[in-house]
Parts: sequence; structure tokens; C-alpha cells
Amino acid sequence: QETIDKIAAGEVVERPSSVVKELVENAIDARATAVTVEIKEGGTTFVRITDNGCGIEREQVPLAFLRHSTSKIKSVEDLLCIHSLGFRGEALSSIAAVSQVELITKTYSDLTGTRYVIEGSREMSNDEIGAPDGTTFIVRNLFYNTPARKKFLKTAQTEGNYISDLIERLALSHPDVSFKFISNGQTKMHTSGNSNEKDLIYHIYGRDITAALLPVCAETEYFSVKGFVGKPMISRGNRSYESYFINGRYIKSALLSKAVEEAYKGFMMQHQYPFCVLYFTMDTELLDVNVHPTKMELRFSNNEEVYRKLYQTIRDVLTHKEFIPAV
Ligand code: ADP
Ligand code: MG
Repeated sequence: QETIDKIAAGEVVERPSSVVKELVENAIDARATAVTVEIKEGGTTFVRITDNGCGIEREQVPLAFLRHSTSKIKSVEDLLCIHSLGFRGEALSSIAAVSQVELITKTYSDLTGTRYVIEGSREMSNDEIGAPDGTTFIVRNLFYNTPARKKFLKTAQTEGNYISDLIERLALSHPDVSFKFISNGQTKMHTSGNSNEKDLIYHIYGRDITAALLPVCAETEYFSVKGFVGKPMISRGNRSYESYFINGRYIKSALLSKAVEEAYKGFMMQHQYPFCVLYFTMDTELLDVNVHPTKMELRFSNNEEVYRKLYQTIRDVLTHKEFIPAV
């Protein structure tokens, strides 16, 4: 079982940011309104996620770490229309297979909480303790028992950047959740949990960018899209300023990126990338969400139309509107 878990872990846990993604999504599924993510050394040695969600009942704690144990909806169709982000029940078992996990959790109705420690899939302790409502996961020394995988990690700086990119997107996809991100003891981001998308973008990326946003709002027969595109000179030299959300979920899509990047041709220089935050609403029948266990990479059943419609939408926005100049 340990070996199987380790192999399965390779699918779900590629790097520290995968751990953060899975645990934050679980926190959101648990209806947390505040989530704190704290990392050290890019998350390679220490990740702590604290939420004020529903908590896990005492008897359920060990079960939650079993593979394919999920308390959530199991149908893929439900996934993108309902709020549940997880559905495979693979995250906790995978993370626990390749790291040292400490969990402290308490439900609203229980008087005491549970502290559970599991390392390399082995239960180390399970105790009743006093704890606040909600759940805290601490994940230490990722890949400590799989040195071959550990070798593929990048520098702490780079791994930390992946996490901060991810948290930006998670915050953008959940304006109603307050996110706090702390790296090596420094607070890097703190959202209020009650701002609109534009204020959030402003807060997360700063004034230089928000001052030059163009609103996008379009309805096509394949999707509706809302959000903002930014002034093309603002670029990180990669896609980390491109954010796409489908039915509330942050996703990566080479197709969507390509459509937006093509639409920007003539509006930006060659080495530049667009700034965009685009929220799509789409019929789940047009989506194939099951392509990868981490559920980040999506496919469309009608690639060409989605591409063309998005290209045209962004092209129109860029062509017909003036950027509000930065002040
Ligand atoms: P999934 O999210 O696909 O159900 P996971 O392995 O991520 O599977 O989590 C297993 C189970 O543990 C969840 O179904 C949920 O019941 C419970 N759980 C995990 N994290 C939390 C949390 N932060 N708060 C409450 N319950 C949680
Ligand atoms: Mg999950």
C-alpha cells in the first residue's frame, strides 16, 4: 500500500505548489472564509495551511488519508457546476505518502479536536487535543523519502514563486475568501474576502496594472466571459499574469492562452505576454475536466469555436477601447 501510495502521489504531488493547491481547495470545500498559507524555503521544508472551515470529525481523520476516500461529490459533471473542488480523494493520501504531515482539526460541534501525525503513509500518532474550530495542515520535508523526486525540485525561490502565483489565482477565483500568504515569516499577500474582482486585482497586483485595465464582458454561444485585460507593456515575461477561471475554477489552458496572445499581436512586443483575468461561464458538457488528476489542465470539446470566439472577443476589446492610462 505504501508503494502504491507513493506512485499515486507522483500524479498529484509534483512540487510544493501542488500541496498548497490541494490543501487550499480542501479548505474552500470545507467552506472556510479565511485561509492562511505559510511556507518556508519555497514550501520544500514547511507548508502550513490553516482554515476556519467545518473541520474533520475525529473518527474520520484516519480515513481521510486513505486513497480514494472522499466525502464529496463523485461525478465529474457535478464538479464544475457545484462548488466542490476535490473529487478523487487522492490528495491527502498522496501528500502523506511523500512527506511528514501533522493535522490539527476540530468541527464546530465537537468540544475537543484531533491531532494526527502521519509520515510516509505511516500513522505516528492520533491524539485528542484542544483546538480552535477548523483545520490546520502542516506538511514538512516534501519528498524526504523519495530522493529521486526531490532532485527535480527547483530552487526554494522558484518553488516559492510557483506558490505565490497559485495563491494569486486562488484569491482571484474566490473573492469571498480572505487569503493570507506568508513566506519565510513575511506577509506577502492578504485579501479581505469581501472585495469585487477589480479591487482584488488592484490589491493583488498593484496600481501600475489596475490603472491600465480594460473590462471584458461578452456572451457567445459557447461561453460568457467577464473580467479584465491589461496594458500589454506590463508583463512578467511568462504566462503568470494570465489567469483563466472556468465556472469558478482556476485552470490552465494552452488554447485560451494562445487565443488571447494571438489577439494581442500588434498590441504588444514579441517577448511580452498579456495581462488578463478572465472568468468564463461554460456549459460543463463542453469541458473535459478529467484529463489530469490535478484538474488544472482543461480540454474543450469544441476547441476551434472556443478559440475563435475568445480571440475575437479580446481583439474587439483591444481594438475599440482605449486603455485607461496609468497615473
Ligand atoms: P477530496 O478533496 O477529493 O475529497 P482529499 O484527499 O483532498 O480528497 O481529502 C479527503 C477528505 O478529507 C475530504 O473529502 C474531506 O472530507 C476531508 N478534508 C480534507 N481537508 C479538509 C479540510 N481542510 N477541512 C475539512 N475536511 C477536510
Ligand atoms: Mg481535495
